[in-house]
Amino acid sequence: MNNLLDNKIEFLKGVGPKRAAILNKELNIFTFDDLLNYFPFRHTDKSRIHKVAEIDNDNVYYQLAGKIDNIKSYGTPRLTRITATLTDETGSIELVWFKGLKWIKTRFVPQQKYLLFGKASAFNNKFNFVHPDVEDFNPADFTQGESLQGVYNTTEAMKTQGLGTKSVARLVKTLLFQVKDMITEVFPQYILDKEKLISRADAYFNIHLPSDSNMLQLSVNRLKFEEHFFFQLQLLHNKKNRELYVKGFPFKVVGQLFNDFYANHLPFPLTNAQKRVIKEIRHDLGAGTQMNRLLQGDVGSGKTIVALMVMLIALDNGYQAALMAPTEILAAQHLQTIQTLLEKMPVEIALLTGSTKAKQRKIIHEGLQNGTLQILIGTHALIEENVQFKQLGITIIDEQHRFGVAQRARMQEKNDIPPHILVMTATPIPRTLAMTQYGDLNNSRIDEMPPGRKMVETRHLYQHQRLQMIGFLKKQIAIGRQIYIVYPLIHESEKLDLINLMEGYESLLRDFPEPDYRICMVHGQMKAADKDFEMQRFVKGQAHIMVATTVIEVGVNIPNASVMVIEHADRFGLSQLHQLRGRVGRGADQSYCLLMTDFKLTAEAKKRMATMVRTNDGFEIAEVDLQLRGPGETQGTRQSGQIEFKLGNLLQDEKLIKYVRHLVNQMLDEDPQLLKPENQIMKTHFEKIFKKTFDWSRIS
Ligand code: ADP
Ligand code: MG
Repeated sequence: MNNLLDNKIEFLKGVGPKRAAILNKELNIFTFDDLLNYFPFRHTDKSRIHKVAEIDNDNVYYQLAGKIDNIKSYGTPRLTRITATLTDETGSIELVWFKGLKWIKTRFVPQQKYLLFGKASAFNNKFNFVHPDVEDFNPADFTQGESLQGVYNTTEAMKTQGLGTKSVARLVKTLLFQVKDMITEVFPQYILDKEKLISRADAYFNIHLPSDSNMLQLSVNRLKFEEHFFFQLQLLHNKKNRELYVKGFPFKVVGQLFNDFYANHLPFPLTNAQKRVIKEIRHDLGAGTQMNRLLQGDVGSGKTIVALMVMLIALDNGYQAALMAPTEILAAQHLQTIQTLLEKMPVEIALLTGSTKAKQRKIIHEGLQNGTLQILIGTHALIEENVQFKQLGITIIDEQHRFGVAQRARMQEKNDIPPHILVMTATPIPRTLAMTQYGDLNNSRIDEMPPGRKMVETRHLYQHQRLQMIGFLKKQIAIGRQIYIVYPLIHESEKLDLINLMEGYESLLRDFPEPDYRICMVHGQMKAADKDFEMQRFVKGQAHIMVATTVIEVGVNIPNASVMVIEHADRFGLSQLHQLRGRVGRGADQSYCLLMTDFKLTAEAKKRMATMVRTNDGFEIAEVDLQLRGPGETQGTRQSGQIEFKLGNLLQDEKLIKYVRHLVNQMLDEDPQLLKPENQIMKTHFEKIFKKTFDWSRIS
């Protein structure tokens, strides 16, 4: 079937071996089918050319036609910018380039007419176009009847071989007429009807060669739907497969330890959200299959106690538990917290990190192997080969984004039957990422803070308000509070960063002189012992101010510290700012976060500062972060690399993804193996695109 689509691209009329090699190399296009799936990134509307006088909107795309002249170069000795003007009957408008300058400089012939496509941006009360697409104006384009034309991404290497966007468009056109009848449907009729989708063949045809803008929209909708549908099918297929077929230790009982802790040692009533997620986790643990659950909860939402109670369930069922943290400081803090909470209970706990001494290490290894050691807390040191458990029942990974998927996989190998896995993250993950990047995991959210937590009051101050800031800090110290001052890593070199930090530290020493004030300092290049010593000074209240790089970002809990000053706050991403702010507001006092920046800021940085000032809600901040930075840069993104959709868009498709996920879930609930005759067509397509069998019983 469809074998024409599997043909090598070389055999398409107009391609040949030379161009084929370029298409292989530059665009990963090897077959007819690959080219068919190389969608235009936009369409030019040849039926509509705007006039310069019509431009009245910032950030809107316009298509103009006119002469280009008045070319000016800026920057000596290095060319940094070129401007030019495009003129039509109604006026002139400025064009600007910052890249590819040499080429631009000689590109335009005076008196020749050009077609321009680009986004108008408002600048100094005028509009201009930055890096517009410009091509020679060809009147024939406007008489051929095809008003919408696909524009394809091409590379420099392609252009030098005569394979610009127009040539690609021509090749696609040739292809379409040749394979039109081979493009077969992948959805059953009942889905096409219910979702009002146009046929697949029509969609492919019209996304490349739209008959009109309505058909183009329907085509994009249809193909987007298909892309998300099969992506979710894969995720949910994996998830259900695991739930149905991968054995896990059944934690049947909630026993002595859990009940004793709950009844007698709980230091505070759990929030409803904590109760709910414990219930969700317990449900997974009792099911007899392996749990893979993601627990999201903002900084301070109380994940530690949830982790502890879940570990107690493992112990109650005769298993050991491991808690893995990303840094030694955090691992040590977990140990301390958990030891305190379990003080009056008969549970054996140990800490294993890179700096655990050989002698202690040996004792730990023995305890793990004979089962007397029940809870192991540590850094990634605990996934080393030689760490063997008697019966590891659950691994809890704190602060997921620091760990790679590979490390998680290694944890799975600790037993024949894989331990349950609970991944905890303090970085709230935008919903679209939770449904895609983490779509194969179960998801729990602690979306409620423990009672009595006051909002951290956040202010954005400029450098010229420094004196004001220092005065404020002095007042806070006078009423007994402690203060963090955090410096970002600014330079490529650690040495320069250290200098930057030291300069800040010295200037603070002048503002807060001894002996009235005491300042401690922690940074990444200190020896663990020194770091610990300085930390302890702060923890014990011997220092008023802690100057630090982002080593304190994760997990430190000092309730008396109520002010967080972030220097060069614009250098941090939103989720990092939010994490840092989470270090304060842990006690009963009103807490503050001061974001210090220079006066000049990018629009994006301003938005980040404004978001921090506006809200304390980590989930909301995560959504803004995704919008500003895109999925690749967001902290919730899995390290294995982000998903690349052809048409799907994580920033825009939240509703669609949610809907499709629901649909696929429902379908798999009713027909988990896609055995119904009408569903066969999707199974076949699934197996083709993912090159694996859908049939679970054949997966060992
Ligand atoms: P996370 O790890 O989610 O950032 P922690 O587990 O460190 O948060 O908890 C933050 C603080 O809140 C700790 O001091 C903890 O004792 C406290 N806490 C947690 N749950 C509750 C609760 N239900 N009621 C009151 N305080 C709580
Ligand atoms: Mg924590």
